[in-house]
Amino acid sequence: MEMTDKPRIAIDLDNVLLDSDSNIRQLIFEETGIESTVNDITDYSYAKSLNLDSETMRRVLDRFHSYPNLTALEPLLGAQNAMSILKLEYEPIIVTSRPVDTYTATEESIRMWFGDIPLVHSNKKSDLCKKLKIDTIIEDHPDTAIQCAYNQMKVFLMDYPWNYPIVDGGLLTRVSNWDMIIDYLFTVYASK
Ligand SMILES: [Mg+2]
Repeated sequence: MEMTDKPRIAIDLDNVLLDSDSNIRQLIFEETGIESTVNDITDYSYAKSLNLDSETMRRVLDRFHSYPNLTALEPLLGAQNAMSILKLEYEPIIVTSRPVDTYTATEESIRMWFGDIPLVHSNKKSDLCKKLKIDTIIEDHPDTAIQCAYNQMKVFLMDYPWNYPIVDGGLLTRVSNWDMIIDYLFTVYASK
């Protein structure tokens, strides 16, 4: 990874930069006939939220992680613009817990929507961030958010029904869109 003097910032991919939720729920519909909205996903696990058996969930996730499905995901509102602004002052690193064998498709979709941004796979993002000296992360996974805040990282938690129990406070800031994140990164933190 190339070294710059800009502060590094870890950015999650699914449901932070890309709209993965609607794709997964569509695949669940195709596999089971179960219709859902984002508000039905009150647990990070789709299987738990919609009461799906593990075999069905495995099929859904296999389809989700397949090529070219991953390259068909679209960016969330404001994400592309936010990334181009963010790059001016920060060094973004996309950190995903997707399976490692999705690397090629994942990298292709990042390049397509956001340009050249380093991509790292990790199931232990708080450890990885410590190793890479990253002190800020943007996430939607409740456990990852808590772990990172516990490790003294600044956390922006993207608002979703599956992370509602996590409250705003201390190092953790709940945000509902990319404009809020850019606002924090360029005004609130910059003035401290
Ligand atoms: Mg995510």
